[in-house]
Amino acid sequence: MRALMVEKAEDGSTSASVKDLNIADLENGNVLVRVAYSTVNYKDGLCLGSGGGLVRNYPHIPGIDFSGVVEESADPRYQPGDKVVLTGWRVGEAHWGGYAEFARVNADWLVPLPDGLRLDQAMAVGTAGFTAMLAVMALEDHGLTPDRGEVLVTGAAGGVGSVAVALLAALGYQVAGVTGRPDQEDYLRSLGASRIVPREELAETVKRPLESETWAGCVDAVGGPMLARILGQMKYGGSVAAVGLAGGANLPATVIPFLLRGVNLLGIDSVMQPYEARVRAWQRIARDLPMDVSQAMVQPAGLSDLPALGEQILKGQVRGRVVVDVT
Ligand code: NDP
Repeated sequence: MRALMVEKAEDGSTSASVKDLNIADLENGNVLVRVAYSTVNYKDGLCLGSGGGLVRNYPHIPGIDFSGVVEESADPRYQPGDKVVLTGWRVGEAHWGGYAEFARVNADWLVPLPDGLRLDQAMAVGTAGFTAMLAVMALEDHGLTPDRGEVLVTGAAGGVGSVAVALLAALGYQVAGVTGRPDQEDYLRSLGASRIVPREELAETVKRPLESETWAGCVDAVGGPMLARILGQMKYGGSVAAVGLAGGANLPATVIPFLLRGVNLLGIDSVMQPYEARVRAWQRIARDLPMDVSQAMVQPAGLSDLPALGEQILKGQVRGRVVVDVT
């Protein structure tokens, strides 16, 4: 089997290349999956390079998500031939991941491919899109409806952002997308954004804790000073789903928006989501995300493209979703 393997040299440097392995070399697990597609997420960029503190042991096979077909199973929930999806559970970080023709994993980590989705379509969504769905569901659970006003998506041309824009637009929301790439305006409008907010408009740190009430909700993939600014621009009772830290992990904010406007900051974790919540999110994706729109986000790739793509996603240069055909 072919796999994209990251090795660590004695001087601590890492290098990634395509290797031939035996299936018997794979880690322990009770289900063997013939991987069809994987993707490139921000975390994959870290694991393809220095590891970002995520990778436990070397040599390592990254790939934090995949879709594929069960080859062997010692778990009664899965039979050979079943189509499955995997995101999270630290696969591709602490465990070997999807950048290989086969992956051996724990049955608890798998979700059956939802009806209405193909294996490639599931990975056009991938971890980024699954997380965007969780964020939208959290905003809905906190009262967001299309009549409440405009919803902001940050890091809009990235993976999480692109799917969030498309999902929200398909659900009837007016969507504004923040991007640092003005050349992606046509792309974002094609996904359903009706307003583009240049990144520099939100780049300055908080000067006034409250600004005009502008956004009914927000899916934030950026964090840092941008998230702090957005908190002060939320409408009364509005919620921000905090998904990512592409712009930084610090939150230089005040508590004033929480106290005077009842703003909610909702944390979104895709990695440890319980099974029922995963199934619910994948069913919503199959129902609510227009597949022709999600196809427009896809950049196809193969295993040998991954080292370069890993560098690009860390620089914020990847648009939408990369779908890796591992065969
Ligand atoms: P991408 O790189 O595809 O998207 C991130 C986007 O953020 C970029 O495309 C860019 O969008 C914007 N961006 C990048 N750098 C900066 C910066 N310095 N300041 C402001 N904006 C910036 O990554 P993903 O979509 O895969 O992931 C996005 C974030 O979400 C990451 O931090 C990731 O770790 C996190 N994440 C969290 C998950 C969870 O479970 N909570 C699951 C999945 C992802 P543009 O060019 O449009 O400005």
